[in-house]
Amino acid sequence: MPEIKILPEEVISKIAAGEVIERPASVLKELIENSLDAGASKIEIDIRKAGRGLIRVHDDGRGMDREDLRLALGRHATSKLNVFEDIYSLATFGFRGEALYSVFAVSRLKLTSFRAGADSGYTLEGEGGKVAAELPAPPVKGTTIEAADLFFNTPARAKFMKSDAAERAQLIRTVEEAALANLGVSFRLGIDGAEILSLPALPGGLWENLKNRAASIFGKTIYAGLARVEGKAAGMAVYGLISRPDALSATRANQHFFVNRRPVNSALLRQAFYRGYGHMLTGRHPACALFVELDPGAFDANIHPQKRDVKFSGENEIFKTVSNTVYEELLSKQIAAVTLAAPDGENKFSAPDVPAYRESAAPPPLSAETGSLFGEPAAAMQPSAPADWRGHDLVFMGQLAKSYLLFECEAGLLVVDQHAAQERVLFEKYLDEFSRGAIKVQPLLVPLETELSRSQMETVLKWRDWLKIAGFEIDQRGPAVALLRATPALFYFTQPAFAEFLGYLAEVLGEPEKAAEDLKRNIIATMACKKSIKAHDFVKPQEAMRLMEDLKKTRDGYHCPHGRPTLFHLSGADIARRFQRSSAL
Ligand code: ADP
Ligand code: MG
Repeated sequence: MPEIKILPEEVISKIAAGEVIERPASVLKELIENSLDAGASKIEIDIRKAGRGLIRVHDDGRGMDREDLRLALGRHATSKLNVFEDIYSLATFGFRGEALYSVFAVSRLKLTSFRAGADSGYTLEGEGGKVAAELPAPPVKGTTIEAADLFFNTPARAKFMKSDAAERAQLIRTVEEAALANLGVSFRLGIDGAEILSLPALPGGLWENLKNRAASIFGKTIYAGLARVEGKAAGMAVYGLISRPDALSATRANQHFFVNRRPVNSALLRQAFYRGYGHMLTGRHPACALFVELDPGAFDANIHPQKRDVKFSGENEIFKTVSNTVYEELLSKQIAAVTLAAPDGENKFSAPDVPAYRESAAPPPLSAETGSLFGEPAAAMQPSAPADWRGHDLVFMGQLAKSYLLFECEAGLLVVDQHAAQERVLFEKYLDEFSRGAIKVQPLLVPLETELSRSQMETVLKWRDWLKIAGFEIDQRGPAVALLRATPALFYFTQPAFAEFLGYLAEVLGEPEKAAEDLKRNIIATMACKKSIKAHDFVKPQEAMRLMEDLKKTRDGYHCPHGRPTLFHLSGADIARRFQRSSAL
């Protein structure tokens, strides 16, 4: 008996499917690309049960006749590639001829299509890669594909699915990116019967459509902070919408990069984009829909079966062009007159003032996400404090620059960053209340309101009960508007702070890797107290003393929750040395 066996076709097809189709969003991406390749001007998508129940894509493209319909479901069937060299030109999206075959292998598929001139439309039905029926269908322009019960015959893969909320968020993002990349095509997305996105293609030019879509996809708050950029160099063009430096967010959830109108993941592009902002980022993140147009021969998008990663041939040129475009448009020209919120240009950005409470020196918050890729590294300041300052009597001497509190301590000087210290105190109080299950909640007289992207909204809603335990009462109003009705009594939120906070939460909570309860609680506490502190407050002597009493009781009085020092001490000897005295005072 030979030990080596040839795998049955059925098994081979399932293995191939695994490469192309990881999750519902990859099915959707392939189907949308096929519709776009077919010249569709309208694509309608319906999803049920986070894509596991049904993914239905209807387009008004050129359709298939009976013969093509049969061929389309076979392996390596494609109408888009004649010679191998074509692989290097990306005029169309798909060319592996594997998508339909793979989707068919792991679902119950119904494929209906009509091509102009044919005597009738046709429907093919089947499951697990086997056609069960072929029927005539009405002559409706275009193609409808319904993939139901995804992974019904590959339970192992089904198990790797993330939560419904995570899958839905990814499905929404897939449509959002397709819609940003194809402004001339109308998109509609419904999930479980509710309309999630409706993005008609309007007459009007590229910018008008891009702005319109950005407004729906990013939500009002982020949209209002966007500016338009455009640049050309070295045979490439870069353009799009990017955040003004005074309108950054806490997360990078709203960054979309495209190469030749295809959504890509590219560390190179992201880094070039960040570099363009130079020092303006201060640990925060710009949103963007940034498009790079290149000669199709200058990059390769086929290194990954799902075609999200790209490899460029002239990396340096691309890096330079992208970062220069961003930098020049944004910083040198100070966004001359093109902020979207104020088309007449009165709303120019001004360099953010650098308060004594310097965010830019902050190491990243507790999340694994790092801040600016190119920001200066956090200064390695070691606070020098007498080991037992907690045990000493402190005499309040005054406030410096409305930011630092000065105390006499053991014949030396204790300098306290009032904001960092207050953050530390609030942080520990909050965690303490949380672990006792006794968060004091304060209802807001006027609820704060913010608009989120649909995928962020999904995540927030999923965590609503948990957030309530954490002291945040959040409601939904309208498909993408979140309302903050109550907060922990310790924290004070402004509307922009709430918008940023929620965007940040949506990202953290949406990532299962960061699912550990206490990690989330920590992140929430960190974010919440960061939002609650106002720089440049006058502090009365009693308040200063009170703060120090509170700080004494904390577990780590030396650092704020972001890791910056809260205080340093100049001993009598330090001071004497400065005056070249041999002995202390
Ligand atoms: P590829 O897109 O790589 O060619 P697919 O498996 O995705 O491979 O599709 C196979 C073929 O089926 C395509 O080349 C195209 O001719 C046809 N096809 C698929 N979807 C559509 C559609 N929505 N409209 C028209 N033709 C389609
Ligand atoms: Mg395809």
